[in-house]
Amino acid sequence: MRSGAISKEEAEILLEEMLADAMEAQEPGINNRIIQSGELPMIVSELASAGYVIVYKVDGQHPDAREPSIINRNSLLQQLTKMLPDGRRAFTTKKPDVPPFRGSVKCLLHADNPDRPQYAALGLPLCDKDNLRNEYQLTQHMRSKHPREYDAILGATREDDSDAQTIKALKAIIVRLNSLEGKADDEVD
Ligand SMILES: [Zn+2]
Repeated sequence: MRSGAISKEEAEILLEEMLADAMEAQEPGINNRIIQSGELPMIVSELASAGYVIVYKVDGQHPDAREPSIINRNSLLQQLTKMLPDGRRAFTTKKPDVPPFRGSVKCLLHADNPDRPQYAALGLPLCDKDNLRNEYQLTQHMRSKHPREYDAILGATREDDSDAQTIKALKAIIVRLNSLEGKADDEVD
């Protein structure tokens, strides 16, 4: 039985193997111009020369399964030795055959947002991110990519909320006044 951890030697061999695999997989496309329209091979080679590599989260229960991420070559070893609870490696340099799951939730700064005119008035930029999976991911996206804009939106929403609450309070007062008048009428009758 082997535990999740592997030795440094094993990890280094593994790393070299994975890097070789990754380069083998990418270079034919670049050299033979098989992929002419795709920018990925160019990005991959540019990243590699800048000291970065693309790794993919191994398929599993994780919502980001098969999602690529760009990491510094120096942290590749660390990433490739991370283990899933079931004993498999958490990351691979091999591009998965199946693309990652894509959602359809749009960034709040997307042009299609019904509040776009209001956001434009606040001077907020556009963002074309439209494949977030859920509200949680949307919040994460807003917090990491547009923290200032998100603050502005939340501020505007809070103002809306306080307006709405004032209106609600006024309505409640009107309802009470009406019922008092009703009672007063009853008493008169
Ligand atoms: Zn965005």
